[in-house]
Amino acid sequence: MTSPAPQETDILCENCGYMLNGLPPSGRCPECGDEIDLSVSQRLRKPPLWEDIGDPRPKWLRFFLTTAQIIFRPTRFFRGSTSRGSIELAQRFAHIHWLISSLLLGIAAWAHWDWYERDVNRFTPLPAWARWVMFLALPIGTYLAITLTIRLAARLTAWEAAYRGYRLPHGVVLRALYYHAAHFLPVALIALITCGGFNLLQRTGQLLFTAGTAYLYLLCGEVVVAAGYLFNTYWIGMRNLMYANR
Ligand SMILES: [Zn+2]
Repeated sequence: MTSPAPQETDILCENCGYMLNGLPPSGRCPECGDEIDLSVSQRLRKPPLWEDIGDPRPKWLRFFLTTAQIIFRPTRFFRGSTSRGSIELAQRFAHIHWLISSLLLGIAAWAHWDWYERDVNRFTPLPAWARWVMFLALPIGTYLAITLTIRLAARLTAWEAAYRGYRLPHGVVLRALYYHAAHFLPVALIALITCGGFNLLQRTGQLLFTAGTAYLYLLCGEVVVAAGYLFNTYWIGMRNLMYANR
């Protein structure tokens, strides 16, 4: 039987999760020896740059810089960001990313489907209007799939964390997943380059007949790597937020 998760008001050691309630900030964690000040100081966890509306830089630049921090320094981002706070701004950040990624992934899926129709399924072609329906339906379907998956992931994570005694309530998990949305961008870009690039090369007749097989192997490999990448970055977010005190 695991112990219940700490309350939001409890003070935890950022390094090991030990309960520091009532101990002076000048001391050290009895469990791991880390300075308590490193766990309670307001200097260490700040709202992400995206939420800093007092910052003189334009909104698009704050969006771009926050995205770069999340993609290139995920541990640092989640270790230095507040785990609670404005959910609306975090949600807006996520929606912009989900829209961009759904569009890119939808076009990539369309390029893949278009190649399949032309090359593999050429003896039973679909009517011309089907191309336009697919061009609209694939990005919309991708968007719905991403948002539903994230909602489900947030619920399951909070439930699992509560069961295991980790302090990851639904609001904290959701906020982290909203910022994790930036990680869809590299995945979507690589998918678009792969599917779109192959479609273009194939259309211009620059490929051997066997290239289709190599393309499918590459695509399968990319799907596996992308799933691993998205899960790993999700875990970096959760691991670096479960002992956050603010
Ligand atoms: Zn500790």
